[in-house]
Amino acid sequence: MFKRIFLCLLCLCLLPSCFAEAVPESMGLDWQENDPWPHAIRNGSRDERRVAVTMDDCYEFEYVQKAWELITSYGGSITFYPVGELLKEEKLKGGDKELWQAIAASSSEIGTHTHHHNRMTKETQFNQILYSKYPQHVLDHLLGYHYPIRTLRPPFGSHDAVFQKQLEKVGYHHVILWDVDSTDADEVKKNVQNGSIILFHARKADWNCLQKVIPWLAEQGYEMVTISELLNLPPLEPVDELFDWSVRKTEYLNK
Ligand SMILES: [Zn+2]
Repeated sequence: MFKRIFLCLLCLCLLPSCFAEAVPESMGLDWQENDPWPHAIRNGSRDERRVAVTMDDCYEFEYVQKAWELITSYGGSITFYPVGELLKEEKLKGGDKELWQAIAASSSEIGTHTHHHNRMTKETQFNQILYSKYPQHVLDHLLGYHYPIRTLRPPFGSHDAVFQKQLEKVGYHHVILWDVDSTDADEVKKNVQNGSIILFHARKADWNCLQKVIPWLAEQGYEMVTISELLNLPPLEPVDELFDWSVRKTEYLNK
């Protein structure tokens, strides 16, 4: 009982300080008793036949490319949440840079899964900012222009009010979770509904599943959109000037 009252009070305290952009009511705000963080997004509108296919980690670029090409061939888009350090110049092999440049220039989207895939709720507030925002520096230097990362998927889905506050400081729109997570195609088909955010990882088991699920989604009339589109965020506006962590970090840490 006391726990429930505490959670309710906590939610009321957090609401005004959460992300600046209002989230439409039908989007992922189905608050549950054991879930005190109502502003993490699990799904988009249940009223529109749209889903967002997302892919985390991206350790194996081979499957990033395959997934992107497959979805594109069905007229859809995908949102990638790569671990930031994988995109550092010295880690890239031949063709990797061009792949990410092509994805960024396409209708698909790139978010971040933090720099090192740490459990962010265990990190200091300084590291929460560093690991969340440094991937922006890395991505911009890979692409050669500023591609504003808008959403973050926390490793292990782990987030809390302190971390969320740090994300607000560095200008991310939302923490993105999911409502469908399986590498079993039948399971995915059973659970997908309007507005679903479907979680995949860049690896073989997921690729096997995607080859069955993507044609099925298209057949069922689902439009496969990016997370930004699912949340009706305004179009991305890349600019020339690169984001430079060393220039911006003092500003963030003083906020
Ligand atoms: Zn992950």
